[in-house]
Amino acid sequence: MRIVLATRNAGKLHELSRMFRDAGFALDSLASVGFADEDPEEDGLEAFATFEENARAKARWFAARLPCTMVVSDDSGLEVDALRGGPGVRSKRWSGSTASGAALDAANNAHLTAVLGDSAQRSARYVSVVVCTDGTREWSARGECSGRILAVPSGKGGFGYDPLFWSDDLQCTFADATPEAKGRVSHRGQAFRRMLRALSTAGGPTA
Ligand code: IMP
Repeated sequence: MRIVLATRNAGKLHELSRMFRDAGFALDSLASVGFADEDPEEDGLEAFATFEENARAKARWFAARLPCTMVVSDDSGLEVDALRGGPGVRSKRWSGSTASGAALDAANNAHLTAVLGDSAQRSARYVSVVVCTDGTREWSARGECSGRILAVPSGKGGFGYDPLFWSDDLQCTFADATPEAKGRVSHRGQAFRRMLRALSTAGGPTA
């Protein structure tokens, strides 16, 4: 069965294609099914209060435009206990920077370091919610991984807040972990593996 991954992030497509292939599903990009650059973010989606709502809105937006196609979408972010779960769904543009790539990550990490200062409460988690729909049936799955926010960044791998995120599972930052090790314990790895299990069996978590 073919599934369209609703993301513009080529790295995500590459990372997840293998996982889907191993489970017997072929993952297609938006571009390969004719979506050159339309994006639900421009329609005001991705502005909801929860990861679930954002992921569902994005999956439904594309499914409505791709009849008889299975679409999978995810929304993720960082929740810091000292920030009462922030930045959460605002993780991507939390610092207010309009940059992209490494410059955006640097601005967000500088902001996180400044906001936490020398606070002793540094526990945090990454959360990912995946929603899959064919326009009629719908499945969702969630993954979380716990850690704490370092005062000094470490590592060059990963992206986003990874140099500051010390993983309880791996006992290093996600930026110091190999992509394989991160994928084994990460929020996104867990959520997508759960989704694949649900799709491989009849029904599913929220079918
Ligand atoms: P997205 O919904 O997966 O695009 O993630 C939204 C934002 O959450 C990203 O732009 C990052 O700031 C943050 N984020 C999500 N997952 C990760 C991760 O695995 N490492 C670092 N930052 C992440």
